Amino acid sequence: MNQFLQNNSFLIIIFLLLIIFILMGGMIFILYKLLTQSKKELPPLAEVITPTKLLSEKFPLIPLPVVERYTCIHHKDAPSVGSCLICEEVFCADCLVDHESMHFCKEHFRTYANFKWKQITDTRTTPDHPEEGVYIHNFKRDIWINKNIPSFVMTHYKINIENDYIESFIQLNVRLEDVDKLIVELEKYKALT
Ligand SMILES: [Zn+2]
Ligand SMILES: [Zn+2]
Repeated sequence: MNQFLQNNSFLIIIFLLLIIFILMGGMIFILYKLLTQSKKELPPLAEVITPTKLLSEKFPLIPLPVVERYTCIHHKDAPSVGSCLICEEVFCADCLVDHESMHFCKEHFRTYANFKWKQITDTRTTPDHPEEGVYIHNFKRDIWINKNIPSFVMTHYKINIENDYIESFIQLNVRLEDVDKLIVELEKYKALT
């Protein structure tokens, strides 16, 4: 046996080296596989985007209701929780009525409940043309402040999956009795702005 080892020591060393190379190659291959797999399993690095952040980024020109007052206009000590869709004043939880995800002050909830309403716009705005709907918000404020005509704007958001952006539809709701008159006035208002 010793004789055999002595005579073939060179061949044996080569043979052992070969086995070591094969084992190392295998280990490197397994390591490589493990590393590339664990990379794939990692979730994509995505920025956490809140709905409001998304909306304000996509529609920088749309005036969001600015809450300048932080307390209810009726109760100086009560923090405001939201604004009325019709008068746009801010109110505390006791003064604000939540109706089908619309908010009104008590007075204007009665206005809402006492009339029939009709939606007269469904103006689509996109991130490329966010200004499309601004005149509607301005018109709504104008007829309320200057003519005391109540109306309210609802915004319907839709995600355009194909083009990866958010479309919004600006829906102005007016009393049934004002529909004809306000459609004409809104057109004039749009032409002026
Ligand atoms: Zn109100
Ligand atoms: Zn209040």
